[in-house]
Amino acid sequence: MNKQDYMNGAENTLLHTYNRFPVVLEKGEGVYLYDTDGKKYLDFAAGIAVNAFGYGNEEYLNALKAQADKLIHTSNLYYNVPIGNAAQRFLKISGMDRVFFTNSGTEAIEGAIKAAKKYAYTRDGHAGHEIIAMQHSFHGRTIGALSVTGNAHYQEPFEPLMPGVKFAEYNNLDSVKAQITEKTCAILFETVQGEGGIYPAAPEFMEGVRRLCDENDILLILDEIQCGMARTGYMFAWQKYGVKPDIMTSAKALGCGVPVGAFAMTETVAEKSLAPGDHGTTYGGNPLAGAAVDKVIEMMERENIAAHVQKIGAYLEEKLDALVEKYDFLTARRGMGLLQGLVSTMPIGEIVLKALEEGLLVISAGSDVIRFVPPLVIEKEHVDEMLEKLEKAFSQFIS
Ligand SMILES: *Cc1c(COP(=O)(O)O)cnc(C)c1O
Repeated sequence: MNKQDYMNGAENTLLHTYNRFPVVLEKGEGVYLYDTDGKKYLDFAAGIAVNAFGYGNEEYLNALKAQADKLIHTSNLYYNVPIGNAAQRFLKISGMDRVFFTNSGTEAIEGAIKAAKKYAYTRDGHAGHEIIAMQHSFHGRTIGALSVTGNAHYQEPFEPLMPGVKFAEYNNLDSVKAQITEKTCAILFETVQGEGGIYPAAPEFMEGVRRLCDENDILLILDEIQCGMARTGYMFAWQKYGVKPDIMTSAKALGCGVPVGAFAMTETVAEKSLAPGDHGTTYGGNPLAGAAVDKVIEMMERENIAAHVQKIGAYLEEKLDALVEKYDFLTARRGMGLLQGLVSTMPIGEIVLKALEEGLLVISAGSDVIRFVPPLVIEKEHVDEMLEKLEKAFSQFIS
């Protein structure tokens, strides 16, 4: 079979929910991917901010293989060893007190929403609470997560969605304040908005929302699914601000490719929140996922990946800023650490496609941002190689 056969096979069988790039990826090594024709790609997408250690990391793979040989799944009716280890490590890096492991990011958001609603229900003795979310946010594709995703295009066909959601403007404290009522149980946002176009929270906004939450007994839920797990140079982006959430979510790089997410909370929330019978999952936190999370966090801590990201992130920022200076069609850079975006007036889809031809994987965020989310283990030489390829891609637009 050749590339076209594989592509046709997929197009004839899979539900057409993606317009895929014309590449069939076959294997990875370090920070490079190879397609079925043997073409090599420098990976600045990392499977959408997932593959923090790149490809072929032996220690990680050996941990998964060893666990696969022992036990992959048990259900949550019984205890298992890996998930206990993973939970301890997750709580240590997050400063949270209780964690629930899920199969994906969207499912972590569902759990966080339920946890907040149950907390308010226990406290007030009745249901009917509201959640404030942000415009241009992204929290996932299931109905609950979609209901708090501030994007009319994603929401419209599926209405009516979950009621009781109000939208405020990100980084605008007055706008959040205006949406608070006596029914508000939680304020939810991404510490750095990802899909919406790479917008980091302003420090005043983080601190202001935390204050509003404290004054009104409202829970602060931070979505760290994309910006967490050292991507911004901090294990979780909120740690840079010194503003701690009451509930937080994680996924993407949490298992570095093994599908796993998490929502976690403080003991104060947990005491009044989900109890036996309130929530569950067949797969969530199974031994294989547990082994992945345990190993990923162990390696991130031991190798101080966050410090590495701060260093390489600063270098990437400097180089991207230089591109904004150089090219008129690039109007701004935004981001933190190795979660960076370039705002472009040229069509992003075409830039991404040209980059692909040059052997570089980058992705879009929103309608006008080129997103850079490489493996966290990249070195300066990879940034330089990326720039060379990106500028070659640009050159095809500029006469
Ligand atoms: C990707 C993402 C999600 C959804 O995660 P899935 O694993 O795709 O369900 C939620 N929130 C943010 C911030 C994300 O980037």
